[in-house]
Amino acid sequence: MAMTTENEKHTVDVFGATEEELCALMGALGQPPFRGRQLFEWLHKKGVWDLERMTNLPRDLHQKLGALNPPARIGTVLRSADGTRKLEVLLGDDTAVETVLIPEGDKLTQCISSQVGCAVRCAFCRSGHDGLRRNLTAGEIVAQVTLARAYHEAPEKLRNIVFMGIGEPLHNTKNVLAALDILTHPRGLNLSKRRVTISTAGVVRGIDALAEAARGDVALAVSLHAADPATRARLVPGLKDTPEEIAAALKRYPLPQRRRFTIEYVLIDGVNDSEQDARLLVRLLSHLRVKINLLTLNPHDKTDLAPPSQERVLAFQKILTDKGLTAILRRRRGADINAACGQLLGTGRHKPLR
Ligand code: SF4
Repeated sequence: MAMTTENEKHTVDVFGATEEELCALMGALGQPPFRGRQLFEWLHKKGVWDLERMTNLPRDLHQKLGALNPPARIGTVLRSADGTRKLEVLLGDDTAVETVLIPEGDKLTQCISSQVGCAVRCAFCRSGHDGLRRNLTAGEIVAQVTLARAYHEAPEKLRNIVFMGIGEPLHNTKNVLAALDILTHPRGLNLSKRRVTISTAGVVRGIDALAEAARGDVALAVSLHAADPATRARLVPGLKDTPEEIAAALKRYPLPQRRRFTIEYVLIDGVNDSEQDARLLVRLLSHLRVKINLLTLNPHDKTDLAPPSQERVLAFQKILTDKGLTAILRRRRGADINAACGQLLGTGRHKPLR
């Protein structure tokens, strides 16, 4: 919800504003700045979006703020046989995204979206098939977490956040960074920065921007999928950054001691799963601190590509591990409800929220 004050100098997305921005908004509304801190706590720490329930805010402020229209609400929820849950998140226009809750032991990881659609259009991905519709606002990004916490019966288990849902987060860097501030703020959702992962398809400019914003403390994952430039261009057609350029950006990134980058590699039958592909990957990554997650393509209705045989997957992994790289085969999660990697879908089919 964007709000413009009388002097028109402050247009603020109330749900996506940092605490400092809400304090400045209160000043513009003739209120003491600490009211901004109180509002921030209600929205994010307590997850209360209804002004009537914000008992320590004065009546005249209620009137000045008007109704706080929720930035999102939950639509359809699907449950996988493996315990994964997929939540449709309905937004304030006629669009929707999806967020996924993945149980791992006694913890929950939430995969969140950063855009409606995606301009990167990876060859194996359902989310980018129809291109980009729009960026999510910071408030809409944060709302996915707030809604999941309100929905889930054990919200305290929700400790890990990965930006691996719909969209390329580093094509929406400003709003993703603002959302990160709220997600990790002690008076916001208070998540540990170490438990938040930004996953990019390899936007070099965005990786450099993250480094400059001193965000070395959040985890960074890169979906590479090929070390050979021609194969990479085929699989990730919306990005011009080459594997060499991406590796160079990782080299200059201020990675904290004892931490590693995660490299995501979706194996596709006959496309990027040969011995030669594995050897090129070794050459590209062996001078970097990385761990490699090997996934197999998740089939869906928008692609003719197929996953390789288990034999080929194991042969690929062996080449990497024989050369001293950490390469882990990741289990497919939530594929029966189209919630696995590359299967999410943003839509524009629901009615507006109000
Ligand atoms: S895999 Fe990620 S970057 Fe690629 S099209 Fe899908 S959402 Fe976009």
